[in-house]
Amino acid sequence: MSMNEEQVRNEVREWLKENWSPNLDLVEWRLKLADSGWGMANWPAEWYGRDLPVSLVPAIEEEFNKIGALTIPKSGIRMLAAATILNHGSDMHKEKFLKRIITGEDVWCQLFSEPGSGSDLAGATTKAVMVGNKWVVNGQKVWTTSAHKAHWGLLLARTDMDDTKHRGLSYFIIDMNQPGVETQPLMQMNGHASFNQVFLTDAEVLPDFQVGELGDGWQVATTTLMHERRAADSLRSWGQASKGDGPIYDQERVETETTMQPYKWYPQRAGRVDLIMDRAKETGAIKDPAIRQEIAKLMTLHKSAEWTARRARAAQEQGKPQGPEGSLGKLAASNVARAAAKVHTLISGADAMLTGEDSPMDGTIAEILVSFPASSIAGGTDEIQKNIISERVLNMPKETRFDADKPFKDIPRNTVS
Ligand SMILES: Cc1cc2nc3c(=O)[nH]c(=O)nc-3n(C[C@H](O)[C@H](O)[C@H](O)COP(=O)(O)OP(=O)(O)OC[C@H]3O[C@@H](n4cnc5c(N)ncnc54)[C@H](O)[C@@H]3O)c2cc1C
Repeated sequence: MSMNEEQVRNEVREWLKENWSPNLDLVEWRLKLADSGWGMANWPAEWYGRDLPVSLVPAIEEEFNKIGALTIPKSGIRMLAAATILNHGSDMHKEKFLKRIITGEDVWCQLFSEPGSGSDLAGATTKAVMVGNKWVVNGQKVWTTSAHKAHWGLLLARTDMDDTKHRGLSYFIIDMNQPGVETQPLMQMNGHASFNQVFLTDAEVLPDFQVGELGDGWQVATTTLMHERRAADSLRSWGQASKGDGPIYDQERVETETTMQPYKWYPQRAGRVDLIMDRAKETGAIKDPAIRQEIAKLMTLHKSAEWTARRARAAQEQGKPQGPEGSLGKLAASNVARAAAKVHTLISGADAMLTGEDSPMDGTIAEILVSFPASSIAGGTDEIQKNIISERVLNMPKETRFDADKPFKDIPRNTVS
């Protein structure tokens, strides 16, 4: 029997009354969430969920928030790993990885982009070759968020140079703590160093850690990317610890400063629409008719983006698989971030460039201005989302491609390997 929102709220409240305490250890608490299924209620009941529709999750989270109960760390690549494993992983993958994703004990990274293949992701040249009874991986990845903190990586690698570009790829879970994996953090213009270049030199992967069939890497990677694009419209709360007194909150604050630290600037990357009205009132900019006009345009864009995201969620609840509509949401989120940065600039004027003590909101406004461009690049650029929307949503003619049917080794490219 399916449950309605009120029934779910009642059940959550009952369960929280019996189980929640701020004196618990963070991992101990999250294990309770895993066992009860209340941490990821939309996951399958046999894998730490409750088979509930995703539409009920906000109501569940609201009940948690009301009493300050912590949820699971639903951010970062770990959630993409979970979605990919639930869709394509073996039972061994589900048993080994899902619980530790819920507890936050394992950090994940996504080893997709390479110096020669970002938008053209299927052109990846990092190779995995079976030597004896193991995969041996050689190549270079770049832009790898969290790689310097990660235990596990989602790796897209070429396993067949003779097959076509897309069919020659396979998908693996790689242990990041091994001698063949070297990570080097890269400094960004906003002062954070959340992504890395990663050098793979004879790194090893056990055959069991292949996800999906050999040659199905592109299909598996598409699942990861679709979830990434959908998640892009909910970046605002990433990297923020809850305020509260008790050992469990202290542990969550440590988590935010350590494993979740690469995501600290993600709210600013999304443009911080939530700050606009307060800032406009505080500075008096609200009285300026030209700025009011821009605020109204931004809020319209923001609301329609939110409704687009809800529509995608509704489609998912009706059992439709994660589809290209994620690209609509991602593109909308990127437009909102750009428009928000513009309005923040109008409100704060030249002060928007200041950081440090006297700056608006302790440098938050300046951080927005140097972080929002990431929204139109990460997880696939705006142009790539437009290509996907035109071809797969609007059914427009496909871009001319010269490389889809040839063996990969015969395709001209700008890297030698
Ligand atoms: C904050 C951040 C975090 C990231 N984290 C990760 C991560 O964890 N793991 C990971 O693997 N990657 C990550 N990335 C990388 C990201 O996925 C790539 O930067 C992105 O896919 C673009 O690739 P590129 O940088 O190689 O640009 P390019 O592909 O070289 O693109 C350059 C320009 O050409 C345009 N272009 C390219 N092809 C086309 C086309 N066919 N049609 C129209 N225009 C085109 C692009 O839109 C862009 O403007 C991250 C990026 C950012 C900004």
